[in-house]
This record gives sequence, C-alpha cells and structure tokens, in this order.
Amino acid sequence: MPAHPKVLVLGGGFAALETAFLLRMRHRDDLDIRVVAADDRFLFRPNSIYVPFGADPGSLLVDLNEPMRRHDIDFERGRVVEVDPDGRLVTLDDGERFGYDKLVIATGADTSPDEIPGLAAHAATIWTTDSMLDVRRRFESVRDRVRAGERRRVLFLVPPNNKCSGPLYEIALMFETWLRRNDARDRVDITWSTYEHGYIQAFGPRLHEHVAEEFAGRGIDGHVEEAAVEVGAGEVRYADGSARGFDELIAFPPYVAAVRYPALDSDERGFVATDPGTRLAAGHDDVYVPGDAGDFPIKQAFLAFLQADAVANHIDAGLRGRDFDQPFDPVSMCIMEMLDKATFAQVPVEVTGDPDRPVRVRPDGNGGYKVGTSPVWRLGKKMLGFSVPMRFSAGEPFHAGRAWQAMDVGIKAMSAMLAD
Ligand SMILES: Cc1cc2nc3c(=O)[nH]c(=O)nc-3n(C[C@H](O)[C@H](O)[C@H](O)COP(=O)(O)OP(=O)(O)OC[C@H]3O[C@@H](n4cnc5c(N)ncnc54)[C@H](O)[C@@H]3O)c2cc1C
Repeated sequence: MPAHPKVLVLGGGFAALETAFLLRMRHRDDLDIRVVAADDRFLFRPNSIYVPFGADPGSLLVDLNEPMRRHDIDFERGRVVEVDPDGRLVTLDDGERFGYDKLVIATGADTSPDEIPGLAAHAATIWTTDSMLDVRRRFESVRDRVRAGERRRVLFLVPPNNKCSGPLYEIALMFETWLRRNDARDRVDITWSTYEHGYIQAFGPRLHEHVAEEFAGRGIDGHVEEAAVEVGAGEVRYADGSARGFDELIAFPPYVAAVRYPALDSDERGFVATDPGTRLAAGHDDVYVPGDAGDFPIKQAFLAFLQADAVANHIDAGLRGRDFDQPFDPVSMCIMEMLDKATFAQVPVEVTGDPDRPVRVRPDGNGGYKVGTSPVWRLGKKMLGFSVPMRFSAGEPFHAGRAWQAMDVGIKAMSAMLAD
C-alpha cells in the first residue's frame, strides 16, 4: 500500500456512507477517500413505507455535499458503468475515470418488474418514492370508493426472486390499520400472496407465526408458495395454473443488481460473489462489495451496515498492519411497522447454499433469535428513522460513537423486556 492510499467508494447509500465515514473517523489524514454516487442525496428508504400513508418523500432525503466537504471526502455525482480490477480503474458514463488502491462497490440493488409479464402495467410496485406515491393514490381511491358504497379487492404480491419481502408485509398490515382508522375496513378484501415457503421466510419460523397471527386477527387472507408468472387485467396467474383476482395490485418486484460488473464473478442477477467475512470480491484482495450489491441472500440496510463495518475494519487492519478480527456476522435486526404496533426481530442467520431456502436461523447465534410485538417497538423504528439520517448528515458512521452506543444499549434493554 502507498503511504497515502486511495479508497474509492461507489454509491451513496447505507453501505457506501457507513464505509466512507467510518474510514474517515479512523483515518483523519492518512487516507484519500473519494465517493462517487449517482445521486448527491441519501435516501432513507426504510421510512418510504410511510409515504403511502401521507409522509413527505422529501423528508427521507439527506444532502451529502456538506458532510462530504466537512470530512474532506472528494464527492462526485456520477454514474459508474465499468470496473477494471486489473487496471484498478473505474469508468463513469461521461467517460471520466478514477484509479484506486482499494475499491468499495456499494451500488445496491434495483427491481426488475418486467420479469413478470404484465406486472409493470397492472400493479403499483414499491421501490422509489414516486412508486410509493402511486401506492398512496391507489389506497386513497380504495378508501373513497368504499366510502361511496363499493366493495374492493386489494392483493399484495411478492413474486419469486424478490429478496427483501419485509417492507411489503409492513405496508399490507399498515394498510389494514389505516382502513380501520378511516372507517373503510368493512368492504375491503385484503389478500396476501407470496412465493416464499413461510411469511418473511428469511427471518425464520417465529416471524412466520407472528405474521400468521396478525393476518388471522386482521382478516387478511394470506397464502404462501404461490409463484406468480404473469399478470393480466384484474388477475395474477401462477406457475401451477391457478389465478387470483384483484381490483388493486400492490407488488414488490424481483431484485437484480443496480449495476452489473462483468469483470467480477457474479450470479445471474448480477450480485457479486464475495468472501463471507471480509466482503472482498471473490478472487480480489482490493475490491470489496458490501450491502445489496453483493451476494448475501438477504438484502437489508441493517445487514448492509454490518457488512460495511467489516469492510472498513478490514481496510483499517491492513493499513495498521493488524490482524483482522471483526468479520461480518449476519445477525439481522428488523422492526415491522403496523401503525398500531410493531414486531421486533433479531435473527442470527447462516447461508445454506440452497437457492430455495438460502438462509436458515442459527439457534446458537450471537444474542439469540428473539421476536416480540408491542406498540413500544414503534418508538424503536422512529429512533432509527431519526438517528441514521442525522448521523449521515453530520458525516458520521451510524455504528460508531456515543450515539450508537446509547442506541445499542436502548435496543438491548427493549429487547430484554419486549422480546423473547
Ligand atoms: C420500501 C423499503 C423498505 C425497507 N425497509 C427496510 C428496513 O426497515 N430495514 C432494513 O434493514 N432494510 C430495509 N430495506 C432494505 C434497504 O433499503 C436496503 O437493503 C439498503 O438500502 C441497501 O443498502 P445499500 O447501501 O447496499 O444500497 P442502497 O441504499 O440502494 O444504495 C445504493 C447507492 O448506489 C447508488 N448507485 C446506484 N447505481 C449507481 C451507479 N451506476 N453509479 C453510482 N452510484 C450508483 C445509488 O444512487 C445509491 O446511492 C427496505 C427497502 C425498501 C425498498
């Protein structure tokens, strides 16, 4: 490594910012850090679930120019199109090129609605804040038509190859609460249909039980192992020849990598093969891929943070000539919002290699498998929605410093009391 190594970070989301800000916190002036991102605003995507129920999409954005300037990080707005790991060069769509000593690829995932014929034409899909505004328009139309005396059928759909189903569960459960609060629940049939073997399959059998109980209590007609293959006007068709009708369809499409890197070993969806503990790209010792862009089967911001921490720690250990002793340990955490209460889950997982069930719960995992439901967990969700954008707008990593220590203690105390 040269005396003043260059770290180039691609992306401006959870994994990119956590890596860049953590490295800067540890190395004030012996590291050149450059971040290249397609957008100069960070989107706190987890809170976009509130947009269909009235939240302002603008409130989810953090301008990155000032925090980057303050922490002496070169920040370029630009779209990466190619990585040449042999030449250690990254090319943008305007032809500009950047060299590096260490490269961190954190360009995340994208959705691919066109994989299911008819989905884009007939469904409102969740992903961008604009698509969430479309969901809001449809929910409001359901409410208004029901108030005018009509009956409506709303179908929520997770098709195969979606890798982050949790947010759609939240939106379906929030919708049910919202309808009740708007005196419009009675004449709406809510149906849930997923390709998964269990509800929020990635988070194991206990979360399935909690969701099944919520669905039953709220009169949501839930179905698993339904693989959608096609959508027509008012009808979803499945691999086994069956079909379900709808008046409104809300879907979370299949996932693909936001950017494909042909020079790196990747799966058919473009997710880059990585070493489990360091998140180094397979076969490379200077290219890391934390977050949704890599091949970890669950795509989640919480796990993106943990992967970014491992990347920053690995680079840091190399610079200081120390052993690397903090590999990525996949203990996921999520808070599932329902508007009247929320379910917390802490889930230690391990990768199985089976594409049908790509992860399973580790019963002996660090901290254990914990699940709990309470209105108080909504506070935990609010705390996260406040503290992550606040830390990033200050140019600080989320998982470091006193703010994180306080929050970590708070979450542990809450989970000791409100989950088992
Ligand atoms: C509705 C919804 C709710 C969610 N809720 C939760 C939740 O409650 N908890 C949770 O843990 N996870 C949640 N997730 C998942 C979470 O948002 C993602 O896992 C997380 O954003 C992944 O972080 P990342 O840094 O890998 O990618 P991203 O956050 O997607 O960031 C990717 C970055 O790369 C940039 N980029 C893309 N292409 C290029 C390019 N060509 N050149 C340069 N830059 C590029 C993008 O502009 C962006 O800045 C939710 C997802 C959705 C859709």
